[in-house]
Amino acid sequence: MAHSVTAEQSLPTEQSIDHILNWCGVLLDCETHRENFFSRPTGQQIFYWMYAGPTQLVNINRRGTSGSVEIEAIQVRDEDYQWAVDVFDTLDYYLEPEFVLINDINQADLRLWGTSGHNLISETSTLFGFATPFNADEKGYVDVVVNVEAGNLSGVTADFAPENTNTALHEIGHALGLSHPGVYGKDLPNWELYDSEDTIMSYNKPEDGIHAGFYSEGDILALQEIWGAEGSYKAPPQSESKGSGGSTPENNDIEFIYAIAGKGKLKGNTKHSTNYIFDGLDVFGKKVLTKSLSSSPAQATP
Ligand SMILES: [Zn+2]
Repeated sequence: MAHSVTAEQSLPTEQSIDHILNWCGVLLDCETHRENFFSRPTGQQIFYWMYAGPTQLVNINRRGTSGSVEIEAIQVRDEDYQWAVDVFDTLDYYLEPEFVLINDINQADLRLWGTSGHNLISETSTLFGFATPFNADEKGYVDVVVNVEAGNLSGVTADFAPENTNTALHEIGHALGLSHPGVYGKDLPNWELYDSEDTIMSYNKPEDGIHAGFYSEGDILALQEIWGAEGSYKAPPQSESKGSGGSTPENNDIEFIYAIAGKGKLKGNTKHSTNYIFDGLDVFGKKVLTKSLSSSPAQATP
């Protein structure tokens, strides 16, 4: 850690997906992280699970900081459960892994917990959530913890909980290997180059003061760097391919991804618009995705 970045002017001034892949090769071998999931008997299926039991105390391993943390798990609400299913369906659409909801915690790759503020809120600090991607290597699963009480304290209605939404997306992002914005392994979650509309991994709120409600294009592209784009690991066609773009993991052309995904529309349902096509390939283009996804809570409000 000899190269610490101290001077403000030494930081890059342009956004890059590399900044949220800042763990890769520094704190986390992102290729190994992927293989930890892909090499299991379930192959490229990633099983996710949500806590639906009674309120109870559970010990969650949080390596690297404080070891084991006792949380008070609370049942994921029905609407949040459905929301999470939509999120994973959307990730499934863009990323090569198949995200599969299961009921058996012992089979889960990703374990999602909602909690009270127990042990996470004190007089001096609030931990909105955490995820432990490093556990994939040791334990074969990753815990994703969302402190629902912390989000509720910052203003929430039955239909609209921007803090909790943001925390869940952010921690799932960590679980899948994304870092906070940063460079050279230095963690810069408050880096003013970004807000949460640029990347869900930023701590900064956008100008309207409300955290982004979904991953940005940059987030999706960064996740594709780790996991591959949907369809990217399919065997190439057996007949001759005339420079048809190839199907390599590093292909980041959104239109092409749509073509090879071949699903026509999102598998996810209902409340969200199915128009997820980005306007251009501006790496952190946020406006289109924000419009198609986070407009739904507003529309639902009379
Ligand atoms: Zn974080």
